[in-house]
Amino acid sequence: MLELDKEVQYVKGVGPARAILLQKLNIYTLEDLITYYPRTYEDRGKVTKIYTLQDGEESLIQATVVSKMSENRVRKNMTIYKLIVRDDTGTCMLSWFNQSYLKHKFVLGNTYKFYGKVSIKAGKIEMNSPVFDDENTNKNTGKIIPIYPSTYKLTQNTLRGIIQNGLAEVKKENGLEETLPEYIKKKEELEEINQAIENIHFPKTFEDFEKARKRLVFEELLSMQLGLVNIKNEYEKGKGIAFSQEVSIEEIIQKLPFTLTNAQKRVLAEINQDMEKETAMNRLLQGDVGSGKTVVSIIASYKAVKSGYQVAIMVPTSILAVQHLESFKQILEPYGITCELLISSITKKKKEEIVENLKQGKIDVIIGTHALLQENVEFLKLGLVVTDEQHRFGVRQRATLSSKGKNPDVLVMTATPIPRTLALILYGDLDISIIDELPPNRKKIETFAVGKSMEQRVNNFIRKQIQEGRQVYVVCPLVEEDEEQKLNSVIELSQKYQKELFPEFHVEYIHGKMKAKEKDRIMQEFKEGKIQILISTTVIEVGVNVPNASIMIIENAERFGLAQLHQLRGRVGRGENQSYCILKCKGGSGITKERMKIMQETNDGFKIAEKDLELRGTGEFFGTRQHGLPELKIANLFEDMPILKEVQKVVQEIQQEDKNLQKQENKPIKKLLAKKFVKRIEM
Ligand code: ADP
Ligand code: MG
Repeated sequence: MLELDKEVQYVKGVGPARAILLQKLNIYTLEDLITYYPRTYEDRGKVTKIYTLQDGEESLIQATVVSKMSENRVRKNMTIYKLIVRDDTGTCMLSWFNQSYLKHKFVLGNTYKFYGKVSIKAGKIEMNSPVFDDENTNKNTGKIIPIYPSTYKLTQNTLRGIIQNGLAEVKKENGLEETLPEYIKKKEELEEINQAIENIHFPKTFEDFEKARKRLVFEELLSMQLGLVNIKNEYEKGKGIAFSQEVSIEEIIQKLPFTLTNAQKRVLAEINQDMEKETAMNRLLQGDVGSGKTVVSIIASYKAVKSGYQVAIMVPTSILAVQHLESFKQILEPYGITCELLISSITKKKKEEIVENLKQGKIDVIIGTHALLQENVEFLKLGLVVTDEQHRFGVRQRATLSSKGKNPDVLVMTATPIPRTLALILYGDLDISIIDELPPNRKKIETFAVGKSMEQRVNNFIRKQIQEGRQVYVVCPLVEEDEEQKLNSVIELSQKYQKELFPEFHVEYIHGKMKAKEKDRIMQEFKEGKIQILISTTVIEVGVNVPNASIMIIENAERFGLAQLHQLRGRVGRGENQSYCILKCKGGSGITKERMKIMQETNDGFKIAEKDLELRGTGEFFGTRQHGLPELKIANLFEDMPILKEVQKVVQEIQQEDKNLQKQENKPIKKLLAKKFVKRIEM
């Protein structure tokens, strides 16, 4: 019988020593081995004539040895071996470093195949460190060769051999069990699992590879999407809290200092409906920076508290917690609702007091950082959990907080706007609400990308704005000076701004490693307008709201991703003044230029997110949210969007026809899920 769980050590050609090396690649079992997919492939199949070789390309030549191997010791530990070969169109010089075993490898007058990177300088054709085969063998050349992402201390050759052995063992035991139902394979024109696994490693043609990849991507996305939907179905089965229908949110909405946008009203209606239902709410609230998510959570909190429950709001930074506390108090205190803060910087005594009051139900709304997750934090009656800027928290942390109540409603807020198709897979366990409208009268933030030569003009502009009463953020990426990358450290940068550039203004700096008390003090002073220029790391990225700040300067903007630049830019443009974002860049590759261009062209977070995905892939979104979810081994959420859409259709059909996967035909997927998904998501 095929044992996929068999330790990799027992695969032919591995043994204990190599098993340890394989573990570095996260390969522990036979299954891990055969699902360690190539990163790319080299086409070593097609012979190129020496005369038509192109500089910089990897190519295969078939040529006859016309010289003896020359050996040239250039310095200690560095010997270069050179060989001249010829075909009927030209000659080529081959070179290797320190490969003494090659010295007597080649026979003068014999023909071999060589594959390697070509370099042509002053008409001289060379190939560096080529791999080779005898004329009639195809071990290293002569076919499509998989290249694995990393081999640690194994060579590509060795790893390839081991994987080949692994596949042979699988084949010997009658192959893998099919993981997709027949009807899906047929409808989607997907090939059978064994063929796919074989061809993903050793395709004979690129067409074979494409087919194999499509099948494996489909399977991976299907199991991910279905797994998430199943989790959601589970939540819905569990009995939650039905908040009181008697508590109307209309009254509090009427008393707000502004009129809600239609989008805010719509999502609040969705949330209100969820909250009144007996099942627990698990909802994602998406909205671009500045779209007004906070007030939505304040109103949801009102509903919960007035129904007799407590609320926990978890945010990623203490700065944000402090700020939220103010907003919550302002709106909720008139209704006799008590709001408190729990962050690491408050005194031990105060903390004990808060913990005690929470337990006794004397605090209605608690706003805090990770500190809320601590074991001693208990609630009398926790009814609603809100996590703000969720991409900073993992699924598990959310679950830990929820477990402090009896199936409380959960609202997850994120300012990272992502296309719906993607949201369905990244947050597939949640229902989704989207605020797709900004409060009225928001002005577009004017954005400029500038180089060194513009510095003087930028500084003059800053001065003028401050003289008019505005305030400025300056963001730089790292705390410590990094010699190599020459990034400005916060401290140095603030000295430059204070001493050299703007001695007449009050400049301060803030960074993540600072004591929280100090951070709070500085943010408070900035809010009160006592500080004109605030130099900061990305700690201000999330949620900070100082409406009078109208200029955002980003140093080394080329170091940031688009989504992050957009978040940072979102710190300005929050008041009535025209705001500006200045992206200072060094040099600029094609991608940097393209990124800066997008930032200048649009303020639309959805467009920016889509572009970011295109330029950087989905790793960032996925990586940060992954905790607890199976990783994607082969699918690329951006490139594979068409497949994902197809998968989502299939998932929808399954949800309608066979929600609990009871039908015989869906047995394979049920098995697949149990293995790939449910097992790992122990929450
Ligand atoms: P985000 O969605 O980025 O968290 P916030 O909730 O911080 O946005 O809101 C940004 C600013 O807009 C706040 O100052 C808030 O008071 C204000 N705001 C929210 N909704 C409205 C509205 N409907 N009309 C006017 N201003 C609003
Ligand atoms: Mg916010």
